[in-house]
Amino acid sequence: MPSLRLPFLRGSAAARPIGYTEALVAAGRVAGDTLEIGRAEYERINRAFGICSMPSLAAQASGVAGALVRAARSMATGRAILATDTIVRQRQAACLGCEHLQGWRCLLCGCPIARKIRLAAERCPADPPKWGAVG
Ligand code: SF4
Repeated sequence: MPSLRLPFLRGSAAARPIGYTEALVAAGRVAGDTLEIGRAEYERINRAFGICSMPSLAAQASGVAGALVRAARSMATGRAILATDTIVRQRQAACLGCEHLQGWRCLLCGCPIARKIRLAAERCPADPPKWGAVG
């Protein structure tokens, strides 16, 4: 069941189709600043408004494998595996203000943001990317 952060959902409402945010709120259950909504209903509403849902499990597994390969490549070539605290904070700020953030995951790649932003060789999957690889 997807958990959507209401402050970001409402904050990005202007960038989304008219009625989308209201449709999600009407179909879900609000608990504090979180909207809980059933997966099937969430995907139905996304389809109806032409918004992509979380990538398939196969695509997510491929993304994790790619991240591991990039981290191994960094290690093999003597580059840092982890991003500096400053870079992590900059990436976090970009993700927290991003319309593709769903709860703690990126809608475009399915990655948990807290882990993704710490790996130096990772980059934002948006086009154009909102942050890039370092090192
Ligand atoms: S990784 Fe990029 S697309 Fe995904 S939530 Fe962060 S800024 Fe948005």
